[in-house]
This record gives sequence, C-alpha cells and structure tokens, in this order.
Amino acid sequence: MGTECENFTNVLMEQVGSGIVFLDAHGKVALINRKAEEILKVERSEVLGKRVDMLPLRTAIYRVLSENSHDEPAEISVEGSVVLVRSSAVQTGSGWGEFFEIRDITSEKREKREREEFVAMMTHDLKSPLTVIMGYVQALLGEVPGKVDPSLLMFIKEMDKSSKKMLSMIEDVLDAYRLEAGLLQIDRQPCNVQALLEGCCNDGAREAVVHGSSFLSEICAGIPPLNVDAKQIARVFANLIGNAVKFTPRRGTIRVSSEVQDQYLVVEVEDTGIGIPADEVPRIFNKYFRASGAQGFKGTGLGLTISKAIVEAHGGSIGVESAAGKGSRFFVLLPMETDLPEDTKVSTGAAE
Ligand code: ADP
Repeated sequence: MGTECENFTNVLMEQVGSGIVFLDAHGKVALINRKAEEILKVERSEVLGKRVDMLPLRTAIYRVLSENSHDEPAEISVEGSVVLVRSSAVQTGSGWGEFFEIRDITSEKREKREREEFVAMMTHDLKSPLTVIMGYVQALLGEVPGKVDPSLLMFIKEMDKSSKKMLSMIEDVLDAYRLEAGLLQIDRQPCNVQALLEGCCNDGAREAVVHGSSFLSEICAGIPPLNVDAKQIARVFANLIGNAVKFTPRRGTIRVSSEVQDQYLVVEVEDTGIGIPADEVPRIFNKYFRASGAQGFKGTGLGLTISKAIVEAHGGSIGVESAAGKGSRFFVLLPMETDLPEDTKVSTGAAE
C-alpha cells in the first residue's frame, strides 16, 4: 500500500506544472522534479543528496534554494527568465525539511507589462480629445455671463466638473503605470504647505456642501515651508479629503486637522462615513483595491496607492484606522527636515 502511495506521489510530482524541490532536515536535496530541472537548467544526478551550501555558487539552483522565500515569494532571474519561488517548512521524521515551489513567470510578466503599456497608451490617447473638450468648456464659461440662459450655464458647469473628474481618473491610471515603471517624478521645492492645505480644505468644504455634510478645518498656524513636490502633495490631501467627502453619507462630518509633532507635520482626515471592514483595511493601499462598501461610488482604486508612493518618496508615511459603518481616520506624516535629493523617481518596486 505504502509503495503504491509512493508511486502515485512520484507520478504526481512529475505531472504538476510547477518545479518542486525538497530539502531534508540536513539541508540536502532529497527530491527534485522534472519541471524544476527544466526551469533551473540542472540534472537531478548533479544535485541529489548534496547540501545547498555545497552546490556551485551562482548556479540557478543555488540562488533559488538559498534565497529567503519563506515569508514572501521571491522573484529571481535565471538566464533571462523570471522565476517565482515560494518555500515552506515541512516536518519530517528526522526534523524540519524545506519544500520549494518554483514557477517560471517570464511570459506572465511580459503579458502583464504589455497589458499595462496598452492601457497607458490608450489612456494617454484619451487625454488629448478630453483636453480639447475641456478647453472649449472653459472658453464657453468665459463667454457665457449675460449671453446664455442660466440653465445652460448650469449644464456647462456640470460638463466642466465631469471632465475634470475624468481627467483626474486618467491621470491616476497613467501615474499608476509610471509608478510601476519607476517613472513617476517628484520635483521638490520649498513650499508653503499651510496655504496648500488650506486650499485643499476650501475645495473639500465646497464639495462637502454639495454632499450635504459638514466640513471642519483645523489647520494649525505656523507650519514652516517644507521641501516637497507641491503638486503631488496637494494631490495626496485632495485624494484623502475627496474620499472622506465621497464615502460619507449626508449629514456626516469631515474633519481635517494638522499639528507638528517631533519634527513631523501630521495631517489627519477624519470622517463619519461608511468606514472600511477590518479584514479589508490591510489591502486598502493596494493597486486597484476597492473595499466592498465602495460599490456604487465612482473611483479607480488607484488614489491611495499613488498617495502612499508619493508620501513615502518624501520620507513620510500614511496610514488609516477605520471601523465599518462608523468612519475612517487617515493620517499622513511628513518629515519637516529631509536630506532627500530634490528630484526623486518613485516606484512601488512591488512584484504583483
Ligand atoms: P477610489 O476612491 O478611486 O476607489 P482610492 O485608492 O482612493 O480609490 O481608495 C481605495 C478604496 O479605499 C476605496 O474604493 C474605498 O473602498 C476605500 N476608502 C478610501 N477612503 C475611504 C474613506 N474615507 N471611507 C471609506 N472607505 C474609503
């Protein structure tokens, strides 16, 4: 019975689509399947029974088995291919062994990059006609007073608002691509962050009125100029405030506050809105992630990803505390002094 089971396991090992390597409790290669031989370009006779530290350095198998892939899968390049390795500890009769699952993800990565390039190209192309439309809408808004029926003016203002929203969604998609490709540029200059924050609060307060919510702005006085990319930092605050307004039903309250704490400017955006379920909070800064409660609200799920990358590029941090049905509190910490160079390229560096 035991032999039958072993045979079945061996057949299965050879049939699975992933490479599999097993190290016994002494760190010796006890098992390697055909797929792993193929991916790692190695013959099993060369490695079976050998300890990892006895394998020739620089070979793919040595690099793959010596990489720490316990906590998170590791991506390793092997002679022009990209290999994803995941390992886990396995209890054997003589102690703990280690099980490695190895996948060649070269074509997946290529397809993903091609898809992203296609989306970036399409989105970029959508921007040109939209900019033309926005130009004409602006021209109409300049022309209109006294000439056009007030109800028409209202339509034009709505067109203006919607086209700005569409442009900001397009910018988010493009910036998510730039982030992935390490092309998002941060240009740091001394900036009056207090005025910038107050400007974002004024915009937020106007939006809150439209949504029927109260808006409290408690920006502390005397924030010194900070060396930041004003456009990008404004975008972070606008995103957090815009979300707070968007995800807060009528008669709710949005509060934006700031204070200086231990060489950090701390900005908080708090709301009494729909909140985020506890199990979804850890994923809230992931690309394209939208919480289950966000259905029915417009958005791309990119704003927070981009905000996090921007804040971190300034040496700061961003976080959230939230309770479903009660509200959320987002906070941003920006260092008051920083030695980072004026221009930085930002990348998530994340392997998806
Ligand atoms: P978007 O708002 O375009 O969906 P974001 O990246 O800005 O994308 O936010 C991601 C998700 O985080 C939102 O879809 C929503 O589920 C959740 N979220 C963000 N801010 C809030 C908030 N203030 N209240 C409740 N949920 C929020």
